[in-house]
Amino acid sequence: MSYRARAGGLEPSACTSSACVGKRRKAHNLDGSNGEQYWRERAEQLQHALSSRITVEQAKGILGERLGLDMEGAFALLRYAARGERMKLHDLAQAVVDNDETPEPVIRALARHSSVLKGAPRADRIAQTELFFRAINEEIARNDGHGMTLFLCECGNPACTEDLELTAVALQHLHAENGLFVVLPGHEVPDLETVVDRHNGYLVVRRNTLDE
Ligand SMILES: [Zn+2]
Repeated sequence: MSYRARAGGLEPSACTSSACVGKRRKAHNLDGSNGEQYWRERAEQLQHALSSRITVEQAKGILGERLGLDMEGAFALLRYAARGERMKLHDLAQAVVDNDETPEPVIRALARHSSVLKGAPRADRIAQTELFFRAINEEIARNDGHGMTLFLCECGNPACTEDLELTAVALQHLHAENGLFVVLPGHEVPDLETVVDRHNGYLVVRRNTLDE
């Protein structure tokens, strides 16, 4: 039974409004009389789906590497972050791929739902998290040269989004030495870090396990 026979009274050529023309084109595609257009559109859709898929895979790889997640965990984080901001998964993945810094929606998702990071071994995860926030702070320091500046706490808790205040110069100075991080008092990890300096409102800690 052909489509046209089933459609009965809805003979497509009876209507010339743009909506009907659209429907008619679809009808023709379905009964095969205008296949080339249909297949061209289908090929474009598939091409789009494929490149979208590739972008998502790239974003998973980047986040996985950065945060010490396996691919499943990275995907869960990406999906959760996109949903939380009502973004399309592809758009967020694109933002991850296009930017050196981790996009805000992902950081906010981590703050809300740190359990996605549970897959990574603890010490590695803490190190990854600290390096991650350290990289963000260095970016802030580059953009924001003068006076007291708000930086993110560089502690190993991925859910920590608290900030601390120091000058960009002071931050860059202590970052010049490998293994030094700036954290809020109480955010140090005693078995992995040593407090080497106490300032008003922040601590400087050294990771014990780094380069050893
Ligand atoms: Zn912290």
